Amino acid sequence: MLQVVPVKAFKDNYIWTLRDARHAAVVDPGEAAPALDYLARENLKLVAVLATHHHPDHVGGIAEILRHHRVPVYGPKHEPIETLTRAVGGGDKVEIPELGAEFDVLDIPGHTRAHIAYYGGGALFCGDTLFACGCGRVFEGTPEQMHASLSKLASLPDETLVYCGHEYTLANIGFAKAVEPGNTALDKREERDRKLREAGKPTLPSTLGDEKATNPFLRVAQPAVIESANKYLGARGKGPLMHPAAVFAAIRDWKNKF
Ligand SMILES: [Zn+2]
Repeated sequence: MLQVVPVKAFKDNYIWTLRDARHAAVVDPGEAAPALDYLARENLKLVAVLATHHHPDHVGGIAEILRHHRVPVYGPKHEPIETLTRAVGGGDKVEIPELGAEFDVLDIPGHTRAHIAYYGGGALFCGDTLFACGCGRVFEGTPEQMHASLSKLASLPDETLVYCGHEYTLANIGFAKAVEPGNTALDKREERDRKLREAGKPTLPSTLGDEKATNPFLRVAQPAVIESANKYLGARGKGPLMHPAAVFAAIRDWKNKF
């Protein structure tokens, strides 16, 4: 039975660790020590490393991990990751036979120019693209690309478990409430996730159904979100807009300043 365990790194990163009784694979090990400690403590044999994008807080631990475990390293082609041994892109499959796991690779550019996600077994590992109740900053792509990438993820089944790279949920809910003050699903989510954090537990994984109900970046066609985006832009002297990608760009800009 495959389990997904959060191993904490830095202040708020998660190294998602896929494991059974004997084997493990790690996703986005930005730091080596927490991952190596977990593997040693649980007596697990590492069989693969998966990376979603090139930022150091996601790949910085890989070189050190490889000194202890010689395993394939999957990650996006067209991004500068020195430790990569299996460059993959949209349409490729990643098989981890020791864990009986198989993932489809999805191209989701925007946060970085060739960011990828791994989707399989009802789980989605999406790095810094889709967050719980939020999304990553648009560093290397365009807002249009990021909006298209999030729409691609939103088309997966509602029950999909969303394993993103950071514990940002409560802060994200604060912003979401500013965008959609009348969305009661946000109040319920805030209550649930606050209790989890108070108990020292991750708010993740969430489900895509939760995200579609509460995440403003997936709700850019909702009248309340469009209205808030226009209010935000109005305050900054721009005209009204309706196009989902433009609404996305406006609330992403708002979040950066929030
Ligand atoms: Zn990143």
